Amino acid sequence: MRATLAVLLAVTGVAEAQRIAVPTAPPASPERRRIDDIIYLERCRGGCTITSGDTDSRTMTSLVPQGPRSQSFLGEFTNAMGTSGPAADAEWSALVSCVREVYSPYAVTVTDVKPSPSESYHLALVAGSPQDIGYPPRTLGVAPLANDCSPLSNAISFTLASAHAGDAFERMRELCWTVTQESAHAFGLDHAFEFVDGSSACNDPMTYRKDCGGQKFFRNLAARCGTDQLAPCQCGQTQNAHARLVGVFGEGEPITPLPTIEWNPPPAAGAELPPELVAIAASARGVAAVELVVNGTVWASVPGTAFGDAGQPPAQYTVMVPAELPDGIVDVALRAREDLGRFTDTPIVTLQKGEPCTSAATCATGQQCEAGRCFWAAPTGTLGDACEFAQSCESNVCIAATCTQACDPAGPNGAAGLPGCPPGFTCAAAGTLTNHCVIEPAGCCSATNSQPPWFFVGAFALFGILRRRCVSRCSSSRS
Ligand SMILES: [Zn+2]
Repeated sequence: MRATLAVLLAVTGVAEAQRIAVPTAPPASPERRRIDDIIYLERCRGGCTITSGDTDSRTMTSLVPQGPRSQSFLGEFTNAMGTSGPAADAEWSALVSCVREVYSPYAVTVTDVKPSPSESYHLALVAGSPQDIGYPPRTLGVAPLANDCSPLSNAISFTLASAHAGDAFERMRELCWTVTQESAHAFGLDHAFEFVDGSSACNDPMTYRKDCGGQKFFRNLAARCGTDQLAPCQCGQTQNAHARLVGVFGEGEPITPLPTIEWNPPPAAGAELPPELVAIAASARGVAAVELVVNGTVWASVPGTAFGDAGQPPAQYTVMVPAELPDGIVDVALRAREDLGRFTDTPIVTLQKGEPCTSAATCATGQQCEAGRCFWAAPTGTLGDACEFAQSCESNVCIAATCTQACDPAGPNGAAGLPGCPPGFTCAAAGTLTNHCVIEPAGCCSATNSQPPWFFVGAFALFGILRRRCVSRCSSSRS
């Protein structure tokens, strides 16, 4: 009963605070360092005993188990054949590799070697069945999610391995989905339903949707929230899962292979630039866009193809050459870019578009002409610098003759996943664009670093398990 009461207190006590908290400043870096930088995957050799009580991974104590028992016993991780022990090693290793890959863009260590008791870590249990902790049979996982979406230290997420079905590979993917979703709840992420362009969030671990398959990654895209349908995000208007996790852990080095891209067919060197260029591209993480790069500048882009049952398939991409590309010698490549910004280019091919330029007069605004090529010098304009054309700004955005950049009113890594603005700038409408950094009018230096409200309710937040959202991902609850 005490546990239930604590939950209810947390729900009513913090519910009001959360809407206020998230649009304000994010945790300062000392707060960020306080969060565990280890995710420990536990397969429960011989079984695990969880004691009911205030959550602490180091003592295997959790508020998640339901029912009258003070202790719950979870059976050891088994493979797709239902066998535990060494027979399950290969599937376990594949799962650890998958989770490690999905979390690799963040400065957090994924390991199945138990940390020392003196360390702070997230415990991702991958064992047992729903009944072991008092949940309905189709529950795949359970985890705490702070009402204000602040990351929880020393939390425990449950991936109920025995509730996962399928052949070894498919089951590993399902388990990877559950482990990454449940652990990310503890780091403050809500369920994602669709991205703001209307496409399904089925390729992000925070989804419940099954309209695409394959390995899921935390996407660098603003998403609208919801489980089986759109619903308000628990914190903020939208959620950029990748940016949130960067905010929690800092950046890591992705270990997913880079995209691949090949001309199809390769243009003949020295030929006239055709009206369109074609390549075949693929990416384990997914191609977000294929871009046309001419003399070092991106001139056109087509979006990545839709994700299917096995993730995003390799696809042929056709990029049209824009009419405004000036005549001259063109060094051309197609670029396969991921949502994280990493990219791979085709080999550069040198072609001709009309006659080589002889002066900048026939080039685009701000371009130079050298050796028959129109091109822009590398941008040097930083935020607030005067500009005459976008390509002189590092952000590639020039509004009202000033270099500016997109921003998030919520500040660094807020809901939209964009940075805030430095002192002297506010995040506001700039010309026809919303949410860009504009210079503050003189005498309007508002204080922007007040403590976020949730800082004062931290004690509540730590107990903030919201069972309604406590994330039982059900395998067959949707039609
Ligand atoms: Zn969930």
